[in-house]
Amino acid sequence: MIEFKNVSKFYGSFHVLQNIDLRIEEGEVVVIIGPSGSGKSTLLRCINRLEKISSGELYVNGTALHDKKIDINRFRREIGIVFQHFNLYPHKTVIDNIVLAPVKVLGLSKEEAAERATSYLSRVGIADKASSYPSQLSGGQQQRVAIARGLAMHPKIMLFDEPTSALDPEMIGEVLDVMRSLAYDGMTMVIVTHEMGFAREVADRVVFMDNGQIIEEGPAASFFDHPREERARTFLSRLI
Ligand code: ADP
Ligand code: MG
Repeated sequence: MIEFKNVSKFYGSFHVLQNIDLRIEEGEVVVIIGPSGSGKSTLLRCINRLEKISSGELYVNGTALHDKKIDINRFRREIGIVFQHFNLYPHKTVIDNIVLAPVKVLGLSKEEAAERATSYLSRVGIADKASSYPSQLSGGQQQRVAIARGLAMHPKIMLFDEPTSALDPEMIGEVLDVMRSLAYDGMTMVIVTHEMGFAREVADRVVFMDNGQIIEEGPAASFFDHPREERARTFLSRLI
């Protein structure tokens, strides 16, 4: 579903991603961890082409992203992304936030899109908030709306960039619950998070980055129990 082959990216002369090789299969849940500034967000943003790679090859959902001639809008519809800050439209109701893209981008009728939106709002447990405005919702509820909005496009891949980092502690669980259920349903997911308990439980694989490189990757249990690399051990020991 996703394959990085010797990918590098520069911001000016700064080598932010260095020779990345990474393969993610359909239905896999991969968690990316690492210190702040290690390139996690940049790697994630390359997957839906919010950032362009500088060299190497990157294949996502059958598209060669290093190829100049891609239809970016068509490509992006099948990839949902959820950010730390929910980026909902404040002047639109919850349901209108979700209906927007399926109508505009997929060409669904308003009724079809509303039906779809309602079903995803139920799925994330907030069907009763359809007519509310984002400001009337808690952070956890807003983030669940953002996830429902992503799902309403019927994506093949969902990307999450620290989806719980801006939330009060008591709201983190409700968002992780939604993500866990997506994972169990077989969604291909790439998740940047500092929630190590969640990573250990839900991830098929953990990727540890430092200084723009993948330092270590492996099954979650073996990574957390027996990290091979010194830098990974240091990182994990500081979290406790
Ligand atoms: P992480 O998500 O792991 O914290 P990022 O991918 O956001 O790391 O950033 C990696 C490095 O690239 C950081 O040093 C950051 O300052 C730098 N960086 C990120 N975005 C840009 C940009 N648009 N221009 C220049 N440098 C950037
Ligand atoms: Mg980041």
